[in-house]
Amino acid sequence: MFFCAQMMYNIRMSAVNFRIADCHCDTISLLGKKEYHFGRRNAAGHIDLPRLIEGGVGLQFFAICTAPYTQHGHARAALEQVSRYRRCLEENGPRLASLERAGDLAALEEGKIGALLALEGAEPLEGSLELLDIFYRLGVRALSLTWNHRNLYADGVGEETAGGGLTRAGRRLVRELSRKGIILDLAHLATRSFYEALELAERPPLVTHANSRRLCDHPRNLTDEQLKELAAKGGVIGLSLYPTFISGGAEAGLEQLLDHFVHIAGLIGVEHLAFGSDFDGIEATVNEIKDASQYGLLPQALCRQGFHPREVEQMAWGNVCRIVRANLGGEAQ
Ligand SMILES: [Zn+2]
Repeated sequence: MFFCAQMMYNIRMSAVNFRIADCHCDTISLLGKKEYHFGRRNAAGHIDLPRLIEGGVGLQFFAICTAPYTQHGHARAALEQVSRYRRCLEENGPRLASLERAGDLAALEEGKIGALLALEGAEPLEGSLELLDIFYRLGVRALSLTWNHRNLYADGVGEETAGGGLTRAGRRLVRELSRKGIILDLAHLATRSFYEALELAERPPLVTHANSRRLCDHPRNLTDEQLKELAAKGGVIGLSLYPTFISGGAEAGLEQLLDHFVHIAGLIGVEHLAFGSDFDGIEATVNEIKDASQYGLLPQALCRQGFHPREVEQMAWGNVCRIVRANLGGEAQ
């Protein structure tokens, strides 16, 4: 890390200098709502196409989430979300590109925004690897085993005291994710589940949205020990903009979020850090970044903090692309 005055000047002078890859949002939950249109700027929510462009976002993970309860079954709820997502991709085709193979990253060099479909909580699979195959064919390329509760696959952070870890179905699923080339997302898992899934992973995993537990003692955040083990597997953590995970309170400032970057970078290195906003899944964000249109302020603030622009580029973009390549391309390593 060093401070480069000329570079800082250049960064201040232009609105967006860094492309951003964001590992988690719940924007799919807005699709199909009457007052919301993804292709236009909306008063509601955090993300739509104009705001992604304005914020410099070049790659966005979109999560399907049916947890913890759903009226007509998880598989149906998830498929309906896939339907709305795919229609959105079609309607915004010239600017959005579905990211399903490592080779699809090339389209992002031509100015398209990559969209990666994720499953947050594996309930929609209902224990069937054939359903996993269907969701794979529909474009799902990242998956977390559970949300905060216990399901067929694993215990989430809400079950920390039970701490049952992974079930046999969970272990089989993790192995199948590595085989198929689906990114394993370790967010929301209870500590024991986290370590068990990490041990089974044959490709570098991602924690799509969490922060440092050392700085903010919330069960959704990762301890230094967990972060070290994640790094040892070549994994990456996307830091969330959720005040509850940053300051522990209802509000947090950008400076407090920077503390999480500094702490984790010092512990495991910048090559294991990324952004995972949780936009449209949280009721509040850091004060200075109200929605995706202001996302460009984060890389600028990291530069001001003293990170080298090359390090900022890794955290904002490069590390997530590395995880995508390692998972979506070729055989497990
Ligand atoms: Zn979540």
